[in-house]
Amino acid sequence: MSISHENELLLKTVREFMDAEIYPHEEEVDRLGDVPEALGRQIEQRSIEAGLFAANLPERVGGGGLNKTAMALLEREYGKTSHALHSWIARPTEILLACRDEQIDKYLLPCVNGAKRELFALTEPGAGSDVMGMKSNAQRQGDSWILNGSKHFISGPCLPDFAIVFASTGSDDTPRGPRKRVTAFLVDVGLDGFSIQEGSRCVSYRGYKTFELSFDNVRLGPNQILGEEGKGLELSGKWLGMGRIWVGASCVGKAERLADMATDWAANRKQFGQPIGKFQATGFKLADMAIGIRTGDLMLMDAVDRAEKNQLTDADAAMVKVYCSEMLNRVADDTVQIFGGMGLMEELPVQRLWRDSRLERIWDGTSEIQRHIITRSLLRPHGA
Ligand SMILES: Cc1cc2nc3c(=O)[nH]c(=O)nc-3n(C[C@H](O)[C@H](O)[C@H](O)COP(=O)(O)OP(=O)(O)OC[C@H]3O[C@@H](n4cnc5c(N)ncnc54)[C@H](O)[C@@H]3O)c2cc1C
Repeated sequence: MSISHENELLLKTVREFMDAEIYPHEEEVDRLGDVPEALGRQIEQRSIEAGLFAANLPERVGGGGLNKTAMALLEREYGKTSHALHSWIARPTEILLACRDEQIDKYLLPCVNGAKRELFALTEPGAGSDVMGMKSNAQRQGDSWILNGSKHFISGPCLPDFAIVFASTGSDDTPRGPRKRVTAFLVDVGLDGFSIQEGSRCVSYRGYKTFELSFDNVRLGPNQILGEEGKGLELSGKWLGMGRIWVGASCVGKAERLADMATDWAANRKQFGQPIGKFQATGFKLADMAIGIRTGDLMLMDAVDRAEKNQLTDADAAMVKVYCSEMLNRVADDTVQIFGGMGLMEELPVQRLWRDSRLERIWDGTSEIQRHIITRSLLRPHGA
């Protein structure tokens, strides 16, 4: 993969930043299961100073204006460490670019300059993969909307200032029967009837928080709709594909870090008088890791190229997510195996990266759901 001079400089900046601000804190954060607020704010502030904050958003709104190739390289580096830490270097959800009029000053710009944090709230206790099973709903009352329902597994580095909440606002008749209209709302923390609390603790990315949100007759003004009423899923769908590419990039980065550890261990750990890497059973694992990482990188860069040309399909993004997350899980498991008992000991980071890897096959749409998307794209042209 050839990298432009400009992107080489970007990578140098990111790696220096991570060496100074992120890696030294990995172990402590995993042990505490928390990122102390002062540490999070320090990463946030220093990433603003380093020009890494909101690097994904266009320069016209004050963002870093990086193109998708540069963002893929960035996410690949961030993927080597914990979400709990690198998510403090915000990449605000690009859905916020749909903000208009006063929403721009109230929501978009504060997320770009670090004054506010948002959450993306789609999943519900009864509606995970089955998004259309959502029960959250908003009823029109005059000019306002009254929001009821709940969300869970809504994640971020810290308590947010507002959430982008997806709720049903009615239903449309379609040839295949009634279909929910889903609308995205900007909902401020602190509004009457909106409660938010930390949810269950996840063993992947310890210290990255999940929140439970509940809405009890929350009154929202007409300006709280993001985009158009009834077009929430179209809006989120525009960005979900790239989200899956960023997961892929992050997985390739983490796989590379694990493979480096496995190779170093296999070259230095001796049993039966020779390095264990010389036993074919171990050496071939390293070879398979290298093949997987190379393949993941190529798929990633191909998808980014398609996205730059506005040609990325849902199936393209799904393939990257499935392949890279499953490749990472094979690499992580094989790394534990190559380390033997030491692979599971808390003194070494292998067990942490192995735990962290597991989530990647689940969030942003499980592997099974990605395979559905790919299958559908294969069968549809045949009328099935
Ligand atoms: C740490 C963490 C952070 C998250 N952050 C966010 C967030 O910020 N915002 C947000 O909205 N969501 C978030 N999520 C939710 C995440 O996207 C969902 O967990 C994921 O989509 C799966 O939903 P589920 O957990 O309800 O599993 P389920 O949908 O209950 O699935 C359980 C199993 O059934 C399988 N399955 C379900 N339907 C089918 C089918 N049709 N065919 C085949 N298999 C099927 C699944 O693949 C899976 O293996 C987060 C989740 C976690 C764990």
